[in-house]
Amino acid sequence: MAGITIALSKGRIFEETAPLLRAAGIFLLDDLETSRKLILATNRTDVKFIIVRASDVPTYVQHGAADIGISGKDVLLEHGGAGLYQPLDLNIACCRMMVAVRDNFDYESAVRYGARLRIASKYVRIAHEHFAGKSMHVDLIKLYGSMELAPLVGLADAIVDLVSSGDTLKANHLVAVEEIMPISAHLIINQAALKLKRKIIQPMLEIFSAIVKENSTAHKNL
Ligand code: ATP
Ligand code: MG
Repeated sequence: MAGITIALSKGRIFEETAPLLRAAGIFLLDDLETSRKLILATNRTDVKFIIVRASDVPTYVQHGAADIGISGKDVLLEHGGAGLYQPLDLNIACCRMMVAVRDNFDYESAVRYGARLRIASKYVRIAHEHFAGKSMHVDLIKLYGSMELAPLVGLADAIVDLVSSGDTLKANHLVAVEEIMPISAHLIINQAALKLKRKIIQPMLEIFSAIVKENSTAHKNL
């Protein structure tokens, strides 16, 4: 039987996934930091990795170019879940999707008086659903990065962005005013691959589930 391909992004997701992979007995044969390869072999002849942009992970898995992927909930919600099985919250790369404004902007009053706010975000789908859920009419402005700048230069009244420590907001005179949802990375599996390659995927899923469970218990006992 053919092996499996796992799609991952460099940076935070890879860094936090590496310990899970090690615990599952999967090791890269190259150093990801220095390697320019986009297809990486592992110690298991039936498992390889492909390195893609974080926002492209669901696309590769949906089309079956990768069998498994590890992707932030933010990316999954923006992309939509068609063709994807999402069996496991890995509880890594944790942060929160928040609404943030300039520290001198009275968000509560603006909401109360029904002002039509301009919202800048990379996450227009999540933002749209959030404000629609509050019956607020907003103008969405799609950005691809550096959202923090938008309220400072008058492009938007508020942003929707991921926040972990809040240091970046603080450094730019912004404050978080509303939490939309907690975010973490999830395991995603191509639905057809799950059936066709169950012999490889099922045990791997069980190992990952056990490791995640163990980590959360260890965390609770701290
Ligand atoms: P790129 O840098 O290629 O444009 P990206 O910004 O989406 O893509 P990362 O910054 O590595 O890539 O983020 C990958 C994932 O990590 C995000 O989709 C999100 O789930 C999570 N993440 C992003 N920012 C944080 C944060 N501050 N704390 C914890 N997790 C985060
Ligand atoms: Mg980034």
